[in-house]
This record gives sequence, structure tokens and C-alpha cells, in this order.
Amino acid sequence: MGGGGAGLRAAIAVAEADPGLSVAVVSKVYPMRSHTVSAEGGAAASITAEDSFDEHAYDTISGGDWLCDQDAVEMFVREARAELLRLEHWGCPWSRTPDGHVAVRAFGGMKKMRTWFAADKTGFHLLHTLFQTSLKYRPVIRYDEWYATKLLVDDGRVCGVVAIELMSGRIEAIGAKAVVLATGGGGKVFPFTTNANISTGDGMALAYRAGAPLKDMEFVQYHPTGLPFTGILITEAARAEGGWLLNKDGYRYLQDYDLGQPTPDPVLRSMELGPRDRLSQAFVHEAAKGRTIDSPYGPVVHLDLRHLGAAKIEAKLPMVRELCREYERIDPVRDLVPVRPVVHYMMGGVHTDIQAATPLPGLYAAGETACVSINGANRLGSNSLPEILVFGARAGAAAAAYAAQAPPIGAAVAAQAADETRRLEALLAREGGESVATIRAAMQHALEGAAGIYRDGDTLAKAADTLRELQERAASTGLGDSSRTFNTQLVAALELAAMLDITESIVHSAVRREESRGAHQRTDFPARDDVKYLAHSLAHREADGGCRIEYAPVTVTRWPPGERVYGR
Ligand SMILES: Cc1cc2nc3c(=O)[nH]c(=O)nc-3n(C[C@H](O)[C@H](O)[C@H](O)COP(=O)(O)OP(=O)(O)OC[C@H]3O[C@@H](n4cnc5c(N)ncnc54)[C@H](O)[C@@H]3O)c2cc1C
Repeated sequence: MGGGGAGLRAAIAVAEADPGLSVAVVSKVYPMRSHTVSAEGGAAASITAEDSFDEHAYDTISGGDWLCDQDAVEMFVREARAELLRLEHWGCPWSRTPDGHVAVRAFGGMKKMRTWFAADKTGFHLLHTLFQTSLKYRPVIRYDEWYATKLLVDDGRVCGVVAIELMSGRIEAIGAKAVVLATGGGGKVFPFTTNANISTGDGMALAYRAGAPLKDMEFVQYHPTGLPFTGILITEAARAEGGWLLNKDGYRYLQDYDLGQPTPDPVLRSMELGPRDRLSQAFVHEAAKGRTIDSPYGPVVHLDLRHLGAAKIEAKLPMVRELCREYERIDPVRDLVPVRPVVHYMMGGVHTDIQAATPLPGLYAAGETACVSINGANRLGSNSLPEILVFGARAGAAAAAYAAQAPPIGAAVAAQAADETRRLEALLAREGGESVATIRAAMQHALEGAAGIYRDGDTLAKAADTLRELQERAASTGLGDSSRTFNTQLVAALELAAMLDITESIVHSAVRREESRGAHQRTDFPARDDVKYLAHSLAHREADGGCRIEYAPVTVTRWPPGERVYGR
């Protein structure tokens, strides 16, 4: 499920592992429209003589505030390099140094330059490379613009999905001996996000409903620089290339906060390249001090790129310039760019092990929809693109091995598919009631108010009640459109149901974690508490629709939890 980076990489891995298997790639949008396409800044893997696997691992683990599973990170940093080189061989046009080596740039929280890039359109080139490579494999059959609505489960084992062909409205059960969820993130549960409209966490919700727990859902990453109205991302590469963040007095305010990099390298030491959680928190403090700039969309600060000059901006950040011109009618060569923190990434997701297997036999997950976890409490920028490759490939290989020996699919799934068809037909026919948009807006508002950059227990508990009420109201929404052809109302209703499920897991996990760690900052519990909470939260769905939280240990191999010191 999913035609983005993780899904296509998984499909290729299956086809390579066992050409006798047949692979369906089910995607609600044409694969090249998956959110991976919009990644700008780059993909991290140590490649230079100054860098090492251990340093990449350490930056990832400390950046994640020690919530990462260190065995997974150690494996990840090794395979990341191999995957980026493999992509090179498949045709990915990585940017180069003048002598022909792969060029790397600095990125937030990384103490060495290790972010590979293809100008500032890395995701586009990466996805294109995977897409064209997938075309070579005959066993890969694409179901473009098919929306999956349910996992078929027989006696605890996942054996396929029910999906709607959006063009015709046809509902079909697709039997499969193994299913890989590669359905991306769910930033759309918040009102202001860099995520595409399709990032609604569908796969997380399907897994949760089928009985797989969601891990570390309380950790939601804010990116410090989004355009104020649209939430369009201005990539961290803008700061890596030397951009400054200025408050209303034109002052580089980050020097007042503990964010600098503990490294002698003058480029990497730049305060603007602190980790994302700390930069977004600093913004909140500047706003509280009245030192931000008012805008129609709330307080903003300025990103200053003018000193980089037109030539550098054109060569290294062409898309940033294009986005500023198109969406803000400004030119970063001459003008200050208004920015504010914006919801960007979910560290949490479907609980998997290092092989991308979930606790449900036959179900695998990879990419942003999964939580291994290599991102811990705060993902470092440019670790996600290598993650979708490394774990996409692992999920494909593991699913292929499982499918090759799995017993035939039982007859029970036919009845489940018939039930799901009836449910969808009834939804299509439903009239009256509140609109999907009204409930979606109320959900986004509740979540932003309670689970933003700073949180507290009372507000989170109230939001949990509000979300419960919204679940009830959503059960009677009317679609106002019963047509079969590209019924966007139907898709919106199904996406809303998915988002409501995952928001509950976010709020319940956040209320239970009485500490501050990475992207989860509690004003009522400002300190990190390793005694009680050096643990992954696991949100289980109860039979009555409620949410039960359990904890699982964090794997520590070589780096005992320490302070995240970023002082200069
Ligand atoms: C603007 C932006 C810039 C970013 N820049 C970077 C960067 O520079 N470096 C970096 O490392 N990371 C970056 N990230 C993060 C990274 O791009 C994503 O985490 C990653 O691409 C997710 O890939 P994925 O394959 O998991 O999912 P996606 O690419 O989101 O793909 C999800 C797929 O699932 C399918 N799908 C979903 N639901 C259903 C359903 N119900 N039925 C059928 N199909 C379904 C969709 O059609 C889609 O094909 C960025 C993210 C954003 C939003």
C-alpha cells in the first residue's frame, strides 16, 4: 500500500527477491504525486573521509533525545550509504563537487556534512528514479488511484486489502499473502502543515483498527520555517547554505538560546542549524517576548537569504526562490522571507521491528507510516529519505520471504470483504448530517490547541474528550454526493475517519508521557525523565474504540542516555 518512496522501494525489493511473486502497488494517487516528491533538502549518509557511521549514528540518537532504538540506528546508517549509492546506479542525479564527487551539505543537528542532494528537488529525483526502475519489473502491477479502506485479517493474519477504484467507484478485495504499509505520514491532522493533502495517516489507522499498536505517536515534528499562509516548506537547506533567522529588530535571536553546534567547523556551528525541535521552541519564546512580527496568519520571523547572492540562490536553492515568488510574491534575492513553525513529520507510526514486521503476521510497514524507531523523539532532517529506502527494501524482502511460505488465504476474508463493501455502500448513500469539512476543522483546531509545540496535561485531557465527541459526530456525516466517479467527498470522509483515529492515539500517548523529550514538551513536566519514560509508548485500540497505552523498552547498544548539549 503506497506508491511513494517506501512503497516503490519495497515493490522493487520483492521483485528482486523472488520474481515468481506478483506485487500489487496500490496507491490513492499516481505514484509520482506521493509526498516524497516534495522533499527538497536531501538524504543523509556518511560518505566523506571526515565522517563515519558512528558519528551519523550518534547524531541521530542524541538528536532523537535517546528514544531511538540504537540497534536499528546502527544498521540504518550503514545501509543508508549503500541505498544512496544504489540509487546513483539507478540514475539519480546527485549534485556533484567540481571534481566529480558526490556533494554533501550541512543539515540541522548533524555535526558533519553528510546530506546528499539533487539541487533542492531531491525528493522529485529520488522518486523518479524509483518509479522508472520499478517499470523494469514485470511482477509489479500498479493500482493507481485506488483507495484502500480496510486490511483483511484472518485469525490474526493479514491477507489483503479492500480498495476502491476511484475512477469507477468499483470496490474490490485484493487478496495478498503479505501486505506492506507504505502510506506515508499524517500531518493533515493539524491545520497548518507542510504535508500534502493526501498525508492523512490512512495506513496507521488501518493497522490500528486491525490490532497493530501505534508507537510513539506523541512525537510530532514542527519545522521552523514554513510560509505563513500555505505552510509550504522552506527547506532547511536554505539555512545550511547560510540563511539567517531574524526577529522584528533584525537580530539573529537564536544566539540567545542553547542551539549552536558543538563543533569547530564554522559552517556547521551556525546557530540556524540547531535541531528542529529546539528552533521551533525558540520561536515560541521570541513570540512571548513580543519580538516576532505580526502577520495576518499570526506571528512570524524573517529568513534572510539576501547575503547569499542571486548566483548561489539560483544554483543551490532554485525551488526556494520559485516558491517565494509564486506563493508570497517576493524574491529572496532582495526580500526577507516571512516564516513560522509548521507541522512537518510524525516520528511515531505503526510499531515494527528492525525487519519492518509488525506484530500482526503478514503485515509489514515502512517509511513515515512506520516507527522502527530510528527517529526517537525528534527526527533529524534528511534522515527520512534514506529511511524510506532502507526500510522499504527491508520490508519488501521480509514480505517476500513470508509470502513464499505462507499458507493459502482462508475463505473467511470473503465475508469480511462483503461487510466492508456494504459499509462503503451505506456511507455513499448517507445524506444530511454535518459536513466532513466542519468536523475536520474542529479536529485540527482541537489538536493544534492541545498537542502543539508546548503541551500540558489539562489541555490534552480536554482535547481527548473533544475528539471522542467528534468521533460520534463523524459517524453521522452526510456526503452530499453519491456518484461513483472520483467521489472526492467519499475519500474525504474516509480520510477523516482515519485522522480521527490517529489523533486519539496522539493525544492519549501525549497525556500519559509526563516528561519533556524532543518534540514532546510538557509545561507541567519540563524535565526529561529517563527512569520512567526511557520507553516507547504503544497505543492499542480497545474493542469499544478507546485507546490503551502500554510501554516497551528502548534498545540501548553503545550510547547511554546523556544530555543533548548544543552549547557553543
Ligand atoms: C515538504 C516536505 C519536504 C521534505 N523534505 C525532506 C528532505 O529533504 N529530506 C528528508 O529526509 N525528508 C524530507 N521530508 C520527509 C520525507 O519526504 C517523507 O517522510 C517521506 O518522503 C515519506 O515517504 P513515504 O514513502 O513513507 O510516503 P509518501 O511519499 O507520503 O507516500 C505515501 C503513499 O501512500 C499512498 N496511500 C496513502 N493512503 C492510501 C490509501 N488509503 N490507499 C492507497 N494508497 C494510499 C499514497 O498514494 C502515496 O503513494 C519532507 C517532507 C515534506 C512534507
